Amino acid sequence: MLIILRAGASEKVTEQVVARIEQLGLRAHISKGEFRTIIGAIGEEKPIFPDQLLSIEGVENVLPIMKPYKLASRDFHPEGSVVQVGSVRIGRGHYGLIAGPCAVESRESCLQLAKTAKESGANMLRGGAFKPRSSPYSFQGLGEEGLKILRECSDRFGLPVVTEVTDPRNVEMVGRYADMLQVGARNMQNFVLLAEIGKTKKPVLLKRGASNTVQDWLMSAEYILSEGNNQVVLCERGSRGFETEVRFTLDVSAIALAKNDSHLPVIVDPSHAAGRRDLVAKLALAGMAAGADGMIVEIHDCPDKAKCDGPQALTGKMFGELMKQVKQMIEIFGNQEREASR
Ligand code: PEP
Ligand code: MN
Repeated sequence: MLIILRAGASEKVTEQVVARIEQLGLRAHISKGEFRTIIGAIGEEKPIFPDQLLSIEGVENVLPIMKPYKLASRDFHPEGSVVQVGSVRIGRGHYGLIAGPCAVESRESCLQLAKTAKESGANMLRGGAFKPRSSPYSFQGLGEEGLKILRECSDRFGLPVVTEVTDPRNVEMVGRYADMLQVGARNMQNFVLLAEIGKTKKPVLLKRGASNTVQDWLMSAEYILSEGNNQVVLCERGSRGFETEVRFTLDVSAIALAKNDSHLPVIVDPSHAAGRRDLVAKLALAGMAAGADGMIVEIHDCPDKAKCDGPQALTGKMFGELMKQVKQMIEIFGNQEREASR
């Protein structure tokens, strides 16, 4: 950590900062310039609270050198991680290709969509049983009944299933049916939920909040990792932008950045970013080109009757076309990634 003093700060300020650093069991390295002094704190950064040093009169800035997340950081884990969800691996040249409805609506439609996903080459199923809706009057999901349907569809077609858990009190119950727990964008900073999920051994799909930075996202991953669950996959699903023609703005740079700064696999959700089906395939491909380790796409057999997110749902045919293109991309990128990780 570097502590930068104000220009002309007195010798007393330097002494105060050095004393504080030494109290914390660290060593101070003083560098006196013509106009200002910079003090380096050497040792484990963890015990330092930057705000405490900042509040010393005469200190202008405090710059951490290390990332505030440790377990999620590539600095401490240079190799990319592989997350195992049932029979599916995600990361380092293995791709999670996930499809299914936004919400489970009925057993029949879910079975139909799982079949479509399987036949198109997807290797995982998605579907919401607990839906975080902006309006309390919108369809909230089928709850545990929906989870039972998902389990049946997953087993029937051999597709591990990911579903959202919105409430820390439901983590154990959802975990009994699901192969992977989804933390939705609205809950990315629900720290009680993150800690509860961290105590399980279930793989987690952690979506990025619509107004959160990549650092916020990795700090949320850190909450899960620090509880002992290292099976975390990140998911970029668009952030709040100024364009009104799309639902959110897909941030491809966040995918590239998260892959750089973290060892965790990252997948793209083009459906919630676009909010409209005509853009979904293009955004999926852009995400894959930015280095994503897979995608999660909403599909529906009858989008105009969907109870949730119909306008962004791909038909089975559209999803099949997208899968062909994605497979071609994987041929190119996948092999490179395997090469790079050797
Ligand atoms: C979803 O996956 O259906 C969902 C609600 O996603 P998000 O949390 O990204 O809005
Ligand atoms: Mn949805």
